[in-house]
Amino acid sequence: MTELTKRLRGTAAAEAPLVEDVFDDTYREKDGPKPPMQIVWRNVILMTLLHFGALYGLYLLPSTSVLTLAWSILCFLISALGVTAGAHRLWSHRSYKASLPLRIFLAIANSMAFQNDIYEWARDHRVHHKYSETDADPHNAVRGFFFAHIGWLLVRKHPDVIEKGQRLELSDLKQDQVVMFQRKHYKPSILLMCFIFPTVVPWYLWGESLWLAYFVPGLLRYALVLNATWLVNSAAHMWGNRPYDQHINPRENKFVAFSAIGEGFHNYHHTFPYDYATSEFGCRLNLTTCFIDMMCRLGLATDCKKVSREQVLARKQRTGDGSHRSG
Ligand SMILES: [Zn+2]
Ligand SMILES: [Zn+2]
Repeated sequence: MTELTKRLRGTAAAEAPLVEDVFDDTYREKDGPKPPMQIVWRNVILMTLLHFGALYGLYLLPSTSVLTLAWSILCFLISALGVTAGAHRLWSHRSYKASLPLRIFLAIANSMAFQNDIYEWARDHRVHHKYSETDADPHNAVRGFFFAHIGWLLVRKHPDVIEKGQRLELSDLKQDQVVMFQRKHYKPSILLMCFIFPTVVPWYLWGESLWLAYFVPGLLRYALVLNATWLVNSAAHMWGNRPYDQHINPRENKFVAFSAIGEGFHNYHHTFPYDYATSEFGCRLNLTTCFIDMMCRLGLATDCKKVSREQVLARKQRTGDGSHRSG
């Protein structure tokens, strides 16, 4: 580690706001029967319609022009970054600092992904880290793949999720004007960024039909980003190695890392939630880390927090499952 990075890390640690994303082992689930599950039918209907729309988009895919296909991929990447580099690594974990223009870009990209506003996303995500695999975890993977993937969005939250979420210290989010602006204007922002913008651009610029543009870069792209994100909560909490901490559920899952542009190194991430790269391997299968590195080079991001190699090695030897030893 160079003297400069040491100094930068020191500064980042000293100035970093308190983020409650560390596992709290004092929490105990309440005894007795679990509260009954209450289905939110509105969400069930909307999610079903979206997925049928996305399947129809898949059917239209062979008749899509190269330009519209490229546009769909670009929209996928922008909306995914709004979640990974934005709501997740910046706003939930404060693992780096972003300048105003970058925060504005990430908030717009986040509206394109339409996964609840940044404030709500970051609050739920901090609760997920603090109370992983318990009743207070919004997408508790102990309740099975379906619940962790999408089911949690189709039922009312467990009372402990609500209670613990209300108790979190979220002043850093409340003080961020970009976060609060997006929250205030959330509905028009998703209408514009998630549905209208991806549809109108190919129609206006190269004469794509509005019908196809709505179903491919619109609905299909939206459903793919949603499912890629959900795989982090479902698959990456169930399948893969645990080289850093074998006592926790989250795992290293390369397929999830690929589809969620870098968020599948989940055993590492839950062990070191403040690391901006969410992996010890930098940009490998990790487009989000590449993006943040590029933003640093452009002077738009600073103070990336990184766990030292020695710390990672010591942790692997102390609590890992030994799966990295052969490598
Ligand atoms: Zn997780
Ligand atoms: Zn996280």
